[in-house]
Order: sequence, then C-alpha cells, then structure tokens
Amino acid sequence: MAKPFIAGNWKMNTDAAGAAALASGLANELAGIGSVDVAVCPPFVYLQAVATAIAGSQIKMGAQDIYFEDKGAFTGEISCGMLKDVCCSYVIVGHSERRHVLGETDELINRKLTAAITGGLQPILCVGELLEQREAAQTDAVVAGQVKKGLAGVTPEQMQVVTVAYEPVWAIGTGKTATSQQAQEVHAMIRRLLAELYDESIAGKTRIQYGGSAKPANTAELMANPDVDGLLVGGASLKVADFATMIKTVA
Ligand code: PEP
Repeated sequence: MAKPFIAGNWKMNTDAAGAAALASGLANELAGIGSVDVAVCPPFVYLQAVATAIAGSQIKMGAQDIYFEDKGAFTGEISCGMLKDVCCSYVIVGHSERRHVLGETDELINRKLTAAITGGLQPILCVGELLEQREAAQTDAVVAGQVKKGLAGVTPEQMQVVTVAYEPVWAIGTGKTATSQQAQEVHAMIRRLLAELYDESIAGKTRIQYGGSAKPANTAELMANPDVDGLLVGGASLKVADFATMIKTVA
C-alpha cells in the first residue's frame, strides 16, 4: 500500500492568529511522526504565515485552488508560481464546493490540474456524487466521469504526483460519513479505472483519499479498507487535537 496521506482542508476558516496557532500546534503534536504524509490547506491569505509556522516540521502545505494561467489580467486569481513561491507542495482541485457552489466544470478542473503538475505542484483531484445521484444508482458513472475528465491528458509519469480524493458530496460537512463499505466500493472502482486508463502499477501507487465527515471516531474503520490510502479532512482538521488524533491513529 502507498504511504498514507492525510490532508486538512481549512476552507474559508481561521484568521491570521488562529491559522498560525493551528499550524504550530499541529507541528508540535506531530513531531517525530514520519510514517504518514500530512498537509494542511489554509486560505490563500494565510499561506505565508502557515509556511513559517510549519517550517522545519514534516507537515507540508497545500492551497485550496489554483488558476491555470501563469500571470496576467486575471483579477483575483492565484497562479502555480505564486503558490510555489510561498512554499506550497500540494493544491486541491475540483473540490465539491468549487464544482457545485462556484460552478467549476470538469474541463476547468482539468486545466487547473494540468497547470499544477506542469508547474511543480502535486494536485489532489476531488471527485464525488451528489445524494440524488447516489440514490439514482449513478455513483460509479458520475465519479468515473469526473476522474476521466479530470485526468485527461495526464501522462503515466505525471500520475506519480496525483492524489485522488473521493468525497461523496452528501457526506461533506454534514456529519454523515459514508460507511466503510460505501467508501471501499467507490475507491476500488476508481483504482480499477486507473488501471484501465494507465496500468496496474500506477493504479496501485496512486493514493486515493476519502473525504466527508471524517473524524477521530471513524478514522480507523475508514483507513482499514484496502483501497483507502488517506483522508481529506474538513471540519476535524480545524482542531489540533482531533486532526492530530486522526494522524496518530493512522501512524
Ligand atoms: C472537505 O472539505 O473536503 C471535507 C471532507 O469536509 P468535512 O470533513 O468537514 O466533511
């Protein structure tokens, strides 16, 4: 199995002092834990402060979004070069809130993912079905479509830096976690699809995170699944104790 990867998505939360305190608190709690890759994804404006707070620790930093152009007249957008400048290693692309609240399409997400890889960031491609799609037995078709379109044009070599996060939309921020079996079924489907699109070796090495109301109490059960390689954590990543407990459980 690939090295587990736990990432915290802070979304539009924290303030300057809180972001720095959360990051340094986590760095203290996790000192010496090397068997899990850990990243935090703060809001853009706190990236610099968080980079300072985690300097020298094993915690890496990610951004929550990226724009696909390098520079120019794109008011409000942030480029890959800018994210690298403030020490980001990862970037989340295609989060369900960007798909469903902000209207991002698979084509835009693919351009962002490609720009991230080309520019030297490691993208976390989020995919997941809406509740009505699950109830209509469309989960596999929806998720497979998002994976295929998100990864369009990505070469086998480039897949080395890609993480896929399966996040059923109905489980994000709702307190309703997918059952361990529901998560495993979709993760296994994604891995089979990666084997078809690439090969067994790439499918085996690509980390597939689960996201959706993951918390200390369900971490062990979710992570016990053979195809769950990590977690993308929203709410529970905003509390040092909860997030650190999840990482220690996995470690
Ligand atoms: C997320 O934001 O990606 C997420 C999974 O949120 P939560 O853990 O709060 O459901």
